Amino acid sequence: METEKTDFLIIGSGVAGLRAAVELAPHGEVLVVTKDVLRESSTEYAQGGVAVAMSDEDRVGIHFEDTLKAGDGLCREEAVRVLVEEGAQKILELIEWGAEFDRAGTKLDFTLEAAHSRRRVLHAHGDSTGKEIERVLINKVVSLKCVRKFPFAMTVDLVMRDGVCCGAYILKEGRMYQVLARATVLATGGGGQIFSRTTNPQVTTSDGMAIALRAGAVMEDMEFVQFHPTVLFAPAAPQFLLSEAMRGEGGLLRNIYGEPFMENYHPDAELAPRDVVSRAIISEMVRTESMYVCLDLTDLDARFVKKRFPRIYRTCLQYDIDITRDTCSPLHDGRGQDRYIRTYKHCRALCCRRGYLYRGSRGKSSCKQQSPRRACLWCKGGPGCR
Ligand SMILES: Cc1cc2nc3c(=O)[nH]c(=O)nc-3n(C[C@H](O)[C@H](O)[C@H](O)COP(=O)(O)OP(=O)(O)OC[C@H]3O[C@@H](n4cnc5c(N)ncnc54)[C@H](O)[C@@H]3O)c2cc1C
Repeated sequence: METEKTDFLIIGSGVAGLRAAVELAPHGEVLVVTKDVLRESSTEYAQGGVAVAMSDEDRVGIHFEDTLKAGDGLCREEAVRVLVEEGAQKILELIEWGAEFDRAGTKLDFTLEAAHSRRRVLHAHGDSTGKEIERVLINKVVSLKCVRKFPFAMTVDLVMRDGVCCGAYILKEGRMYQVLARATVLATGGGGQIFSRTTNPQVTTSDGMAIALRAGAVMEDMEFVQFHPTVLFAPAAPQFLLSEAMRGEGGLLRNIYGEPFMENYHPDAELAPRDVVSRAIISEMVRTESMYVCLDLTDLDARFVKKRFPRIYRTCLQYDIDITRDTCSPLHDGRGQDRYIRTYKHCRALCCRRGYLYRGSRGKSSCKQQSPRRACLWCKGGPGCR
């Protein structure tokens, strides 16, 4: 087995891993290890956007209250506070590094979405927000000489000595490497692939959680699985997300008889928190003995729909669904998995100092579109993280 040494070993190249690499680069050599090509991650597929209280009508305090409400009493308030207070700065940083969020004229364009009482969801290229963030972060990381990349490399386990993490065992092209590091960051994303239906890419197989558990870490919030309420349901179609932003922009959920039903389940109707929407869809499918419900955007201006959702429009068209004229049939998806590894001061497998806080910011039903910003925030902490 070959041995390599680095200062900081980062496992994962989604928004969390890449942002951590940028943060750590001034403090030493960084090695980013990832299972596939750098960009293959959930981040690359995030569609709807990033929620941040930056519009003229919004305030950080309102975002804070909305997030707690969506979390249904299960959020850790101090974590939510960091999330909403530091979010704007992280977005400005991404813009400075070249992120092109959509604009209305010269001003940033914010969408209204479920569980948010103000328009606060920033998006890029309509429905390719994650792809844009990943593009910018990859460019940034590539520009940093002290960050090395190790693609197509599978992390198998942590190297543990006397209960302290000193690196990881990594399998690349049939060879096992022992990579020793002063600090190791597990930024391996979720585990959507453990579900039969998921919009998560194939790399999301809970590896980080299994690795941490084997190393003796305490797992928290394993019961919190994040659902996307709506996924394309058509013969031969992939498990493709129909962004919740589609409801935010005025899309209506209808049952197989064409009847809108969300008002029967929640006063905010289509803008109810996503766990409510998921349960309402299931209830309606059971009630009408059907396999699906429909998402209807046909009342919206066709040009607006094509501009706002270009990727969804093109994908649905491949399956003979023109979302400007036809209703599409969504199922709900059991896809995300936001579970957290509790980090201890003596355990150098860091999720970072704030990793512990991170888990508290979601609660029962997350306010949508908080993940990229969450990942940017919680990977801050610098070399002091242990
Ligand atoms: C279809 C879809 C749409 C979404 N839309 C939104 C949205 O609009 N707004 C929002 O806020 N959030 C959205 N999300 C959620 C958001 O994308 C994720 O929460 C976020 O990107 C997670 O970032 P991450 O860096 O933690 O993980 P990921 O981006 O998944 O990155 C994990 C990385 O770890 C690597 N990895 C995993 N295991 C190993 C291993 N054993 N060895 C080496 N490398 C490994 C993977 O290859 C990958 O590079 C969406 C998610 C999906 C799937």
